[in-house]
Amino acid sequence: MARPAATLRTGAQMPLLGLGTGPGSVGSWQTSTEPIYEAVKVAIDTGYRHIDTAESYADEKAVGKALQEKIGSAVERKDMFITSKLWNTRHHPDDVLPACQRSLTDLGLDYLDLYLMHFPVAWTRGDVYYPKDDNGRAILCTPDVPFMDTWKAMENLVDAGLVKAIGVSNFNISQMEEVLTNGRIKPAVNQVESHPYLVCSKLLKCAAENDVVITAYSPLGRPGEAGLHGVTPFKDPKVISIAEKHNKTPAQVCLRWQVQRGVVIVPKSVTPARILENSQIFDFELSAEEMETISGLNKDARIVKFGMCDDHPQWPFNGAF
Ligand code: NAP
Repeated sequence: MARPAATLRTGAQMPLLGLGTGPGSVGSWQTSTEPIYEAVKVAIDTGYRHIDTAESYADEKAVGKALQEKIGSAVERKDMFITSKLWNTRHHPDDVLPACQRSLTDLGLDYLDLYLMHFPVAWTRGDVYYPKDDNGRAILCTPDVPFMDTWKAMENLVDAGLVKAIGVSNFNISQMEEVLTNGRIKPAVNQVESHPYLVCSKLLKCAAENDVVITAYSPLGRPGEAGLHGVTPFKDPKVISIAEKHNKTPAQVCLRWQVQRGVVIVPKSVTPARILENSQIFDFELSAEEMETISGLNKDARIVKFGMCDDHPQWPFNGAF
């Protein structure tokens, strides 16, 4: 399988296709991480060289077990690209190094290729991933930790050689610009929700001007109840018609559209046939008109809203993407 990659500002190659390992909805957990363990092994055997995980997915040990079985036999560490993320409850500068070290231990790695700040808002410190008050609101960190303080602690991880690159996730344009302006190390990546119903064209333009690579999460619109309530972009008649023309599936068209505009994708699947299907996107090309048709489906429809902290001044989703 061809493995086209984006070049990060560090010079590193980040494969355009990665396997997502997230739990499917904010705050939910798989009843078992066994399917993720199997999925990572299947993905590597299928040719994936990029795995996207996070502390808050509570599956890093399962991902790590699969990596340990494959690295050194099926694949070399240097050919894998592993991303993890610093969770909202770890924003205090004193918590950043231990959080990263814990992810490395659970993954069985001595460095990460990319470490992202998962979200720009700090929640109360501790081991409860979703600390909530009686009204179901997220308990915020008091005093607040501005994300630039967290970022500075993440810069130290690069200096220490624990992570090759750092970036952000769920940062709107002005938040990304703040890190670009004030960071000693500039963010290599911003990972945001994007699919044909959430095109993020302004963010893509700003990212391209500033040498930031965009990764699209939920690139299939997370089909099913947890997603856009069944309004899946790959059920869109225009996407279906383009897919039929290329003898591809609508899911493959959604993924191809992203990589053709230079966006990295991390579709999640624990189903071997879909893991394969989602990788077969580098043997066809969408015309300029087809690219425009898909971009024209935008509805600014967002699945992941982190609504439990939407009163925080740094809640990102009232800004531009
Ligand atoms: P997604 O990848 O758009 O959708 C995943 C769902 O699609 C799964 O239920 C999967 O089912 C199904 N699926 C996969 N391929 C398919 C295909 N070819 N045909 C039909 N159905 C298919 O959504 P996501 O899991 O929300 O996002 C992907 C990854 O992005 C996550 O796993 C995580 O790594 C990352 N993420 C990051 C953030 C963040 O805040 N940074 C937030 C959300 C997600 P099966 O597994 O049953 O096959």
